[in-house]
Amino acid sequence: MAIALLGGTFDPVHCGHIEIGTQLADYLDVEHVRLMPCGIPAHREPPTANPQQRLEMLGLAIAKRTKLTIERCEIAHTKPSYSIDTLRQIRADIGPVTRLFMCLGMDALEHLHHWHEWRQLLDYCHILVVSRPGTEYPVALPLKAWIKDHQSDRSVTDELRPSGCLYFCKLSLIDISSTQIRQHLKQHRSIEHLTPDAVIDYIHRHNIYE
Ligand code: ATP
Ligand code: MG
Repeated sequence: MAIALLGGTFDPVHCGHIEIGTQLADYLDVEHVRLMPCGIPAHREPPTANPQQRLEMLGLAIAKRTKLTIERCEIAHTKPSYSIDTLRQIRADIGPVTRLFMCLGMDALEHLHHWHEWRQLLDYCHILVVSRPGTEYPVALPLKAWIKDHQSDRSVTDELRPSGCLYFCKLSLIDISSTQIRQHLKQHRSIEHLTPDAVIDYIHRHNIYE
C-alpha cells in the first residue's frame, strides 16, 4: 500500500497533469494518484480561477480516469498552504507505516529550498521528481548537497520504508503548462488538445482567464 500525491495550483488542470498523474500511478504501482489542488499557494501569485472552479475543472478532467482522484485537504484553506503542514496532517491520518510519495515536476524541485521547513519534508514522505520540458536539474548549492544526501539508487517499487528518499523519474515529456493555457485564452487562441474538452467548455461558460 502506498499513497501518491501530485500537488499544484491546477489553474487550470491540463493534459500534462492528467498524463503525468496516470503514468505515475503505473510507475509507482499505486491504485490512484491524488491530485491535490492548493487553496492559496504559498510561493506564487494567487490563482485566477477560484478554488471551487479549480476543483470543478479537476472533477471534469478526471471523470473517466480511474487512476486519478482528488485530494481536497488543502483546497478550503484560507491561509497559504505549506506542504510540510499538509504532509504532517496526512501522515497523522495514515499512520507511520504506509509509504507516502509527494510527486513534483522538476520545475518545482528547483525552488524546493525556499519551501517552509523544506529539510523536514522527507521525514513524512518520499519525494519523486518528474522531468519536465524546459527545466534543468537544480544548481542551487543547498539543494545539490541535499539531493546527494537523499537520492536513492534503488528502484522506487522496491522501497519499503514509509518516507525519507528522493527519486527522479523520466516519463513521457509533455510540454503543456497552465501558464500557456492562460496566455492562449488572453490572446483568444484555441486551447484545444491542451486540456480536456469538458474543461475547455467549463472555462468558456464561466468566462475564466479572459
Ligand atoms: P503554472 O504554469 O500555472 O505554474 P503548471 O502547468 O506548472 O501551472 P501546476 O499546477 O503548477 O501546473 O503543477 C502542479 C505539479 O505538476 C507541479 O509539481 C508541476 O511541476 C507538475 N507539472 C505540471 N505540468 C507538468 C508537465 N507538463 N510535466 C511534468 N510535470 C508537470
Ligand atoms: Mg507550475
